[in-house]
Amino acid sequence: MNEKLFLGAHLSCAKGFHKMGEEALAAQMNTMQFFLRNPRGAAAKALDPEDMSAFYALLRDNGFAPVIAHAPYTLNPCSPDERIRALAEEMFADDLQRMEHIPNNLYNFHPGSRLKQPLETAVTEISDMLNRLITPELHTTILLETMSGKGSEVGRDFHELRAILDRVKMPEKVGVCLDTCHVWDAGYDIQNDLDGVLTEFDHVIGLDRLKAIHLNDSLNPSGSHKDRHALIGQGEIGFDALSRVVIHPALRGLPFTLETPTDTAGHAQEIAALRKSADA
Ligand code: FE
Ligand code: FE
Ligand code: ZN
Repeated sequence: MNEKLFLGAHLSCAKGFHKMGEEALAAQMNTMQFFLRNPRGAAAKALDPEDMSAFYALLRDNGFAPVIAHAPYTLNPCSPDERIRALAEEMFADDLQRMEHIPNNLYNFHPGSRLKQPLETAVTEISDMLNRLITPELHTTILLETMSGKGSEVGRDFHELRAILDRVKMPEKVGVCLDTCHVWDAGYDIQNDLDGVLTEFDHVIGLDRLKAIHLNDSLNPSGSHKDRHALIGQGEIGFDALSRVVIHPALRGLPFTLETPTDTAGHAQEIAALRKSADA
């Protein structure tokens, strides 16, 4: 196994965090992503501190790259509805507290849907929330995810994320997670011009802010703004283009996480194929 290559997938913590870590190990993963709560609802049961410290030890003892906790999909920090924004902040704060059980990992969120609000208002609301939640004591790096631009999603291009980052007071605590399906759907041609897209990312945001990759194929053509993930090699981006992402020197050492529509056995196969191609 190429140890410098960190590959994993989105897994379920329903049976516990340490169990999830063992599932990752069995599938040759050395990173992973998970929800800290039911992704569609706010309700979250209390975490078991012993389970969390066993999980943390497993990550450390097996040389995992940083792992990603994904915020609930319902979380919308730029909703025009004040109550929905307040709920987003509450869930976000609670998740960040949970993350303190496993310090030095990543918390990824979708910037949200602004509906009829102007972009500027949305950017202000998102960054103001971050500035209220981020403290010097926080041990987690927060990630803004690049979005496909369906509906009124904020983060449809690198400039929208940059606008948020520019307003964040503790920039060392906030980075970006690049989702290959989303940027492709947003219109960035990572199939024919990966170098150009990464150069553009570097100019607008800075590659030093890039902390993780979501590796997904897309059911739709570039520019479609759809956000429908496909199995690696079974979508419009294709296996070759995605395996070039995995070995790109500018992305070396980053955690790559699959969010493809399959189970852990399927993810293990995709990871094996990507590792094989990276070693070739
Ligand atoms: Fe996401
Ligand atoms: Fe994603
Ligand atoms: Zn997606």
